[in-house]
Amino acid sequence: MANKNKFDCIIVGGGATGAGIARDLSLRGLSVLLLEKNDLSEGTTGRCHAMLHSGGRYVYKDKIAATECAIESEILLKIAPHITEMCGGFFIAVDEEDVEYGDIFEKSCREAEVFCEELNPQEFLAQEPKCNSEVKRVFRVNDGYIDPFLLTYYNAYDAKLNGAKIKTYSKVENLLLKGSDIVGVEYYDKLKNATKEAYSDMLINATGPWAQYLEKDLELERPLQISPTMGSLLVIQNRLVDHLINRLRKPGDGDIFVPSHQSVILGTTSIPKNYEELDHLLADREEIEYLLDLGEYLIPSIREYNLLRFYSGARPLVASGGSPREASRKFEVIDYEEEGYSGFITIFGGKLTTYRLMAEKVSDLICEKLGIVKDCTTAGKTLPGGERKVPMKTFKEKLHVEGKTAFDMQYKWGTFYNEISELCQTCIESYNTSGKPRMICECEHVTEPEISWVKENLHVKVIDDYRRRTRQAMGPCQGQFCYYKICDLESKWTNKTHNQIIDELTAALKKRWKTESHGGDFIKKQIKLSKYLYLLGGNLNERF
Ligand SMILES: Cc1cc2nc3c(=O)[nH]c(=O)nc-3n(C[C@H](O)[C@H](O)[C@H](O)COP(=O)(O)OP(=O)(O)OC[C@H]3O[C@@H](n4cnc5c(N)ncnc54)[C@H](O)[C@@H]3O)c2cc1C
Repeated sequence: MANKNKFDCIIVGGGATGAGIARDLSLRGLSVLLLEKNDLSEGTTGRCHAMLHSGGRYVYKDKIAATECAIESEILLKIAPHITEMCGGFFIAVDEEDVEYGDIFEKSCREAEVFCEELNPQEFLAQEPKCNSEVKRVFRVNDGYIDPFLLTYYNAYDAKLNGAKIKTYSKVENLLLKGSDIVGVEYYDKLKNATKEAYSDMLINATGPWAQYLEKDLELERPLQISPTMGSLLVIQNRLVDHLINRLRKPGDGDIFVPSHQSVILGTTSIPKNYEELDHLLADREEIEYLLDLGEYLIPSIREYNLLRFYSGARPLVASGGSPREASRKFEVIDYEEEGYSGFITIFGGKLTTYRLMAEKVSDLICEKLGIVKDCTTAGKTLPGGERKVPMKTFKEKLHVEGKTAFDMQYKWGTFYNEISELCQTCIESYNTSGKPRMICECEHVTEPEISWVKENLHVKVIDDYRRRTRQAMGPCQGQFCYYKICDLESKWTNKTHNQIIDELTAALKKRWKTESHGGDFIKKQIKLSKYLYLLGGNLNERF
């Protein structure tokens, strides 16, 4: 009998890279186990700007990375039309130094084969009236936005359809060695509170900025040279611009605005961090003020709008010894065979935009090592739900929702609207909601059938997992008026006890409101309030 704990390949790390590798390898017929210590996409992938890079940002210093971005973003627009927004971007000069950089930028774009086109500043301001009216020079580029969470979930979903096993909340703690062969891993399953083992012919370390941890038991002449660099981002409540706005200069701090759903994201900074700090990254007041000061160069009225929340991630950069801003955005694949250990590969560096290419390169190497002759298919095979772009009108009609809700839905579910529509019917029949599905999150327009669909399909394990899959609790109230409804549904759909649900709710709210924790016992009050709303409302089965 085949050992169910033995796989062709184990992948550690469930960010876009790990999920992309799981999809690529399972499409080539390999048996795969993906282990992630938290939820999928909860690492750097879920803490980035989510910009689909045209390559413009890197043309001057990093032409290879720029060309890779240009090619890969075109591929992603084709294979994931349901979670990408090709909003286009602008590089704008706001002072004389920026103006001079314009010529270098244009020449570098040509050399790296990255599209750019100079535009009259007045024409630009007509499209983006909130931007600095003193703008002196403008280039249009093909930047876009991609939902980093759903990108990861749809990769994992497809991997699962092709036989992969996904285990979240499972932290790999040790490598299992037989002599100098790496034959598996020991991991801690947080949900079951148990230590387990799994075995494989090949082990892939796709843990991004955490990558050096898995090397801890190996004696290496050339250990990984990773320089984790924190970048912080501010989420501003209104969608102030409809295009990505970059400052026309070499990459620096606070020089990008990305429109994202109902808001805009301003970033970022670049602060070197140690491995020990990676799980607790958070900007301080000084860093926030610094970002807002820089943001004012691009959108002068930025401080008039609500700062919804802020978050930080760490770039898994290849260490260069110089300034993090100078470090390359290229990626590296390390084969430990060269150090005398077989069966172990690490991939790190790169960008979200190039995750598919990274997955392809590492999967090619794995196949070569295992003697499997199967080509990569991910550049041409659409992600689940992305078979075609589904218009807003269809969501309105089939899911009985209004314009804003339909607008948000079209960037999430693609052709899955059909499955959600069936759940919608059940939802409408169970509640007195005048022929419309029950709204769970009013701020981000998330309905019960969507919550129900992700529960069945996108690997939800705990209450906090709904947020990343649907954007529930990401709007202005930050979950105050929807978490208790989620708790109610979770108690209906699972056999979790109320104590378990309250523990999960507390954990979710602590994460959601950690940026409020500077406000003394504010967070404790918020948690109490949500808990009582759930116990009074959800527990008595009353509907709100
Ligand atoms: C501030 C910022 C802004 C950025 N903006 C952009 C952008 O706009 N566009 C773009 O293309 N790129 C951007 N990037 C880069 C991009 O986010 C990353 O390159 C990409 O998300 C890395 O994905 P990954 O899967 O390799 O790593 P991660 O997403 O970090 O995944 C690694 C995973 O491994 C897990 N893990 C770690 N240790 C273990 C263990 N022992 N056991 C099990 N699991 C483990 C972690 O929990 C994590 O989920 C940005 C990065 C930052 C920091």
